[in-house]
Amino acid sequence: INDALSHEIGDRLLVQVGERLRQLAPEPALLARTGGDEFMLLLEHSDAQQAGQLAEHLIEGFQPPIRINQYECFVSPSIGIASSDGRGSASELLKQVDLALYAAKDAGRNCTRFFSQELSAAAERRRQLEQALRRALDEEQFVLHYQAQVNAAGEPEVMEALLRWNSPERGLVPPGEFIPVLEDSGLIIETTRWVFRQACRQARQWREQGHRLRIAVNLSPLDFRQADLAGSLLAILAEEDTPAELLELEITESALLEADEHVQQTLTRLKAAGLPLLLDDFGTGYASLTYLQRFPFDGIKIDREFVAGLPDSEHSVALVRGILTMAAHLGLHVVAEGVENERQAAFLRLNNCPSLQGYHYARPLAARECLLGGVIPPTPALLLPLDG
Ligand code: C2E
Ligand code: CA
Ligand code: CA
Repeated sequence: INDALSHEIGDRLLVQVGERLRQLAPEPALLARTGGDEFMLLLEHSDAQQAGQLAEHLIEGFQPPIRINQYECFVSPSIGIASSDGRGSASELLKQVDLALYAAKDAGRNCTRFFSQELSAAAERRRQLEQALRRALDEEQFVLHYQAQVNAAGEPEVMEALLRWNSPERGLVPPGEFIPVLEDSGLIIETTRWVFRQACRQARQWREQGHRLRIAVNLSPLDFRQADLAGSLLAILAEEDTPAELLELEITESALLEADEHVQQTLTRLKAAGLPLLLDDFGTGYASLTYLQRFPFDGIKIDREFVAGLPDSEHSVALVRGILTMAAHLGLHVVAEGVENERQAAFLRLNNCPSLQGYHYARPLAARECLLGGVIPPTPALLLPLDG
């Protein structure tokens, strides 16, 4: 509301929220605004059940919008509840109610959560995971696996770098389990730099061995929050003495959600430096087409959700054909993700999809395995015509 309508309206909304809380709260209770958009109610001689009932009453009470001038503001409270028998400290109680509040927000807002020992244990696990990830970065426990994107002839042209955590305690951990923690803790920025640097080195090594392969690196939406993403990636390219044409960047739609001038400039600069940009998970976002119009993408990756239904689902067939036609008209490269069988592959080739990726061709593998397992053909230098 601050951003959309102005701080003045935001301030007046806070006053109104306070006013409404005062009307809804029982007597006696201590009501406070504890910062930002957080309010706290302290109830004495009340048990968890009563507090739960009050929370329901509050959520109902906030259903009617709050009117400010010509605006109707809808407020959806998230409520955390913790209680004390008077033995613990005040700061402990505050910590507990905070955890309950975050759990309510995580659960999708407009709801109530009680503090519990499980919540506290989960927070502790999370803290330890974050610490372990800091160590992983320092001690280089991360590794990259590479998954091929092949052309219509089945030859690999691009290898997508996919991050794994080789944890001494947990084994090889997939990114879905730790990237959200890296993002929440801000560690993702340093991790992306590490991934990009490794990708530069691997790309150069493959080139020196005579392979014609580019490496695609995934960017997190959080990477765009730093002041100078483009400058930092371009510095790494220079330090590693790697031509930009050996790399490309995959950007998910959620990175562009807050698309502003800054994101636009970052992408324009990276592209101008010679890094191809691909829109990842195409079709799953809110405004896929807007992004293609607004940003300088070179290609799209059709999300595997659409590929999964090929060739039997009429819907998937229509959508994928439509996407391919549109991309051809716009001059965009297309990669189909998640190709798992020959029927899907045949459909995509028949419809002129230029690039395919999925378990049907190769799983993500360590660089060495890509060569040993035959994903990357051996000694290609000998296969290439000498005039290159
Ligand atoms: P993504 O970029 O969409 O990557 C593709 C994911 O789909 C990979 O999972 C890959 O193993 C999986 N996949 C590939 N082919 C198939 C298939 O035929 N069938 C099925 N069912 N799955 C397939 P992975 O490696 O677990 O990565 C998951 C996500 O984690 C990635 O999704 C990406 O968003 C993120 N990620 C991975 N590495 C990085 C990284 O270095 N940086 C950032 N920011 N994100 C990364
Ligand atoms: Ca990707
Ligand atoms: Ca994807």
